Amino acid sequence: MREDFEDLRDEVRSCQKCELHQTRKNAVFGEGDEDAKILFIGEAPGRQEDEKGVPFVGHSGKVLDRMLAAVGLNRNEGIFITNIIKCRPPNNIDPIEEHQEACSRYLKRQIELINPQIVICLGRIAAYNLLGPEYKVTKDHGRIYEKDGMYIMGMYHPAALLRSNQHKEEAFKDFLFLKEFLKRFDDPDSKIDNSNSKN
Ligand code: SF4
Repeated sequence: MREDFEDLRDEVRSCQKCELHQTRKNAVFGEGDEDAKILFIGEAPGRQEDEKGVPFVGHSGKVLDRMLAAVGLNRNEGIFITNIIKCRPPNNIDPIEEHQEACSRYLKRQIELINPQIVICLGRIAAYNLLGPEYKVTKDHGRIYEKDGMYIMGMYHPAALLRSNQHKEEAFKDFLFLKEFLKRFDDPDSKIDNSNSKN
């Protein structure tokens, strides 16, 4: 598996499949445990991510790290973090469909190789990409969906938590629910309130 993963990483680093390769400093493949239980997917690298080639290292990354720490998780253990597109869109505009389509094979292959217990979409754009345009983050965050043989949950993007204490409280509950949900993989007899679940 490691070899496949490294091949994919090299492919992304040298990719020129869309125009974003012209303005990027670094393609941001993603970072973390290649056998992760949780795969976090954001929308696209920002300025700091583009400079460092690492996902979620700016303000949003700090918020994400704090949320993980608050429920006893950390990005270095059992977690992989990436984005639906691997190169920064100029001026941090929302990734357009053409770029998402050009980049989609990389995310699909990452999901196949990592084979996580659950995929977490961070923010509206990532959730649209994986769950479809009817997804509404304000209404549907924290719900578990089963799709294509995977569990998928959408959450607020960490940047949204910087702007709203209410979103922060809701996101904290979603992280707690995520932690409870993961117990089902370790203990099949565990009783989990899965009332958020939606097929
Ligand atoms: S955004 Fe994706 S498809 Fe476009 S150049 Fe970067 S890696 Fe390639």
